[in-house]
Amino acid sequence: MEPAPQPGPRDLSERLRESEARRAAILESALDAVITMDSAGRVIDFNPGAERTLGYTREQAVGRTVAELMIPPGLRESHRAGLARYLATGEGPVLGRRIEVPAMRADGSEFPAELAIAVSRLPDGSPLFTAFLRDISERKRAERELRRHAAALMESNADLEDFAYIAGHDLKEPLRGISASAAFLLEDAGGTLNESTRSRVNAITRLSARMYGLLDSLLEYSRVGRAELAFEMTDLNAVVAGALETLQACLSGARVAVLGPLPTVRCDAVRVGQVFSNLIANAVKYNDRAEKRVEIGREERSGELVLFVRDNGIGIRRQHTESIFKMFRRLHPREGYGGGTGAGLTIVKRIVERHGGRVWLESVPGEGTTFYFTLAPSPALSVPLGMDSGAVAEPP
Ligand code: ADP
Repeated sequence: MEPAPQPGPRDLSERLRESEARRAAILESALDAVITMDSAGRVIDFNPGAERTLGYTREQAVGRTVAELMIPPGLRESHRAGLARYLATGEGPVLGRRIEVPAMRADGSEFPAELAIAVSRLPDGSPLFTAFLRDISERKRAERELRRHAAALMESNADLEDFAYIAGHDLKEPLRGISASAAFLLEDAGGTLNESTRSRVNAITRLSARMYGLLDSLLEYSRVGRAELAFEMTDLNAVVAGALETLQACLSGARVAVLGPLPTVRCDAVRVGQVFSNLIANAVKYNDRAEKRVEIGREERSGELVLFVRDNGIGIRRQHTESIFKMFRRLHPREGYGGGTGAGLTIVKRIVERHGGRVWLESVPGEGTTFYFTLAPSPALSVPLGMDSGAVAEPP
């Protein structure tokens, strides 16, 4: 094979000219300031981005030192020392890295900048430095604003937490008094009251009990938000067994199946027990079939462990799938389906989210609902998925 023809001197100089033109075009159009300087820190090249950022024209900048042009007076000494160190040792902590530094404009005003410095060598071996500088005042301002918002949000969340706690805790006291006074009234003067007055006093007792229940739910919700979670490796089979045991009374007549072994995950066992209890209790409560069925299990979705509680109950219409997670939201008349405060799913959501997980549901009205939840984006599993027997294990 013929060797490829070597470029002649004319070709070479043409190519060089081309590559120089390309380099110049890039520098001309770059948004960042690109400043080239020699080993003494004197500016050799200053692109339009640098003119815009620093407020000098190219003519004003070339030949002057970077230190006097753009480094705030207090930092010039360390810049000089850094340069001298690099020239002596070849080491420079800022070289090849992106760092944040204060910089100065022609009018003396300072601004935060992001800086990266690259070194190349001239044919005689002396270094040539290229500084890429970006004004990040706007980004810094946005970051400050974000931090301020986050702090304000945290403060208002803490206020809300306090409010929920105070409402739940302190309002119970006078309520107990109201309820007790109504009971005394009936006891002391019951015989002398006419029917309509008696029924009004009974209403006070009934409504006080209801309000007590609501305050209890509020208090529990606030506790779930405040308490430190006790994370530990937890066998979810034991958690579900515990939940089923406490729910025994309301599970009579229901067929509950745990599908396959559940994994061991890092979570707060008590709180996750509460999640399972609430979901299992609802699975039986919102179910008017002769044979109520509940299945508890897990799946893997895109590598993520998903736990579920499935029922063959009344189902939930699509438009309610978000709102039922709201505090005190019920889809039924107050006493329908055994009553309730409408806080259970709100508490479930809060516990799950505090674990870093999500909760959602799929439902076919009239056929049943499946509540799904995760406990962390990628929980540590001790039982690898896919090793299930798939057997249906009936709990005791
Ligand atoms: P509560 O049971 O006290 O009303 P929840 O927050 O647990 O409160 O549930 C909110 C509402 O969501 C319930 O009132 C019910 O209408 C609906 N719901 C919850 N779970 C189910 C389920 N498994 N099937 C059908 N509806 C459900």
